[in-house]
Amino acid sequence: MNVLVINAGSSSLKYQLFDMDTETVVAKGLCERIGIGGHLKHTPVAGGKPEFDEDVEMPTHAEAISNVIEKLTSERYGVISSLDEIGAVGHRVLHGGKKFSESVLIDDNVIDVIEECVPLGPLHNPANLMGIRACRLAIPSAPQVAVFDTAFHQTMPEYAYIYPVPYRYYEEYDLRRYGFHGTSHRYVSARAVELLDMPLEDTRVITCHLGNGSSIAAVKGGKCVDTTMGLTPLEGLPMGTRSGSIDPAVIKYLSDRAGISLGEVITILNKESGVLGVSGVSSDFRDIEAAAADGSARARLALDIFHYQTLKYIGSYIGVLGGADAIVFTAGLGENSPATRAAIIDRLGGIGIAIDKEKNNTRGKLAEITGEGSLSRIFVIPTNEELVIARDTIQKTK
Ligand code: ADP
Repeated sequence: MNVLVINAGSSSLKYQLFDMDTETVVAKGLCERIGIGGHLKHTPVAGGKPEFDEDVEMPTHAEAISNVIEKLTSERYGVISSLDEIGAVGHRVLHGGKKFSESVLIDDNVIDVIEECVPLGPLHNPANLMGIRACRLAIPSAPQVAVFDTAFHQTMPEYAYIYPVPYRYYEEYDLRRYGFHGTSHRYVSARAVELLDMPLEDTRVITCHLGNGSSIAAVKGGKCVDTTMGLTPLEGLPMGTRSGSIDPAVIKYLSDRAGISLGEVITILNKESGVLGVSGVSSDFRDIEAAAADGSARARLALDIFHYQTLKYIGSYIGVLGGADAIVFTAGLGENSPATRAAIIDRLGGIGIAIDKEKNNTRGKLAEITGEGSLSRIFVIPTNEELVIARDTIQKTK
């Protein structure tokens, strides 16, 4: 059976069509500039068909989906002969609030609940809903499944997710830590458990999803017990353009001093901060590593801050778990930057955790990089959120 996986953003929509009999991608692509023009890049992976990469008018997500379907089924660029060959559709949904602790088959009621979670994910949930509605209209015969970024973290204990602010705000406004990247943390922690070859209930795993957006999770017995992102994906580690955790009083202070609104400060903390803000170079770690190597002191500082804060969270999660059987690196930076992994783990030598310099010289593939005598095993595990979404979709539509 083929499963179409959709990741809809406010002006973009990424897709992958999986053949789930073999768990392989048969086509993938990206619609960009939805609502402000439109561009479609469609790449057939199987069958030797050519790539399509052109501007296409897409006023809304509905036109984006119909263009994707047209390409998937077309004579020239297609990989399937008709819509009937799409057995189900899986959607990445950012915020499931506290209502969803696992993936769910979409019906009108589920759509209402995702809608209720819009205040918690004001940028993403409306876009995710547009993708869902467009697919329901375009492919009415295919069941649709929502896979939430927040779901895996729903097992956190209360003391990890309740913010120490008046409790009534949790009761009235659902104000609490939720956590994100859950699909990735779930996938790589489960892979780590397989590699550890220990009884599941005894396993203590720290997963570091380091990419443009970064978060860390502490996973005990396969269940998430803490994570660095919070009510929104702004909390925790410094990221490409996000500040991560700072003194909340900074927001009013900056607003007063710079004469800008609180909303503008939040936008700055989301879009102009992190390693971009400090380095002044780029949000892309490759550019920053290159600039630091060329002698840019601010690029060096941005990297130092990132490594230092990551180290602090890993250290605190070793405390939370009472030790770590595995520390996992994943996502763009975690999978591809030996320098990042070494800068973090080398500082844990004092508590008996080490990586192997040679083995660490690996990029983009599954690898164990544990150093001799290390108390924790260290893994690089490539994440695959789309495959998890496709698997959940099959499971929920059985
Ligand atoms: P997103 O959060 O957008 O999914 P990714 O997981 O793709 O992000 O991670 C993107 C980040 O990974 C970028 O900052 C990029 O520079 C970094 N990255 C990718 N490859 C490398 C590499 N070889 N060396 C250092 N950083 C890399």
